[in-house]
Amino acid sequence: MERFWSRGSVDKNKALVEHLQYYDIIKSKKVAEVMEVIDRGAFVPAGSPPYDDSPMPIGYNATISAPHMHATCLQLLEEHLQPGMHALDVGSGTGYLTACFAIMVGPQGQVVGVEHIPELVASSVENINKSSAAAFLKEGSLTIHHADGQLGWPESAPYDAIHVGAAASEIPQSLIDQLKPGGRMVIPVGSVFQDLKVVDKKLDGSVSIHSEMSVRYVPLTSREAQLR
Ligand code: SAH
Repeated sequence: MERFWSRGSVDKNKALVEHLQYYDIIKSKKVAEVMEVIDRGAFVPAGSPPYDDSPMPIGYNATISAPHMHATCLQLLEEHLQPGMHALDVGSGTGYLTACFAIMVGPQGQVVGVEHIPELVASSVENINKSSAAAFLKEGSLTIHHADGQLGWPESAPYDAIHVGAAASEIPQSLIDQLKPGGRMVIPVGSVFQDLKVVDKKLDGSVSIHSEMSVRYVPLTSREAQLR
């Protein structure tokens, strides 16, 4: 343990990825690679341990999700984050997953983060600029917008992958509408008891939904309700 903490941040991030692989939460090489490339240390507020497998407060009644949840969502969306694809991250918070998506879809792809706390939009841009995804922000294949994510971001729709980082009381129709046929959305749904739902839009436009696991996220809500 002592040796673990005395290593540099790149090594600690790698050890976190190895831990998630050992417990079979990271299953693919691609997800391991992207979580190695995007160092969590750039996204966790100063003073919080970046490489612990737990959520951390980021202010404004929000949290950065735990690494095992980021890994789970990346695994569920992997096939829908191929080079050139479009992805939407609703409630992008620190920008961690948004940055991971940008690496996966590459410079020909398009990744949009939507976050309704302007201070978090600003800090996520700073975080991404410290990370390996900085070039995508500069070149415009990755953008973060200050808006109500319940409405999605129609300008770059339809999306191959939609991730929602906050729990909705029900799945917003706008997000289903903005999913491409063949696309997948991962969204926590519920209030006290929440399920991580996987929404698949088939090529004929019909939608199938299954529950992946029980989860606990902050609510997808209005800014006023969140800051209360
Ligand atoms: N995936 C992010 C999760 C942050 S927590 C991360 O790991 O950093 C959930 C985020 O959703 C918070 O930043 C919160 O401000 C945001 N949020 C909640 N309701 C929202 C809404 N209606 N529109 C946009 N963002 C919202």
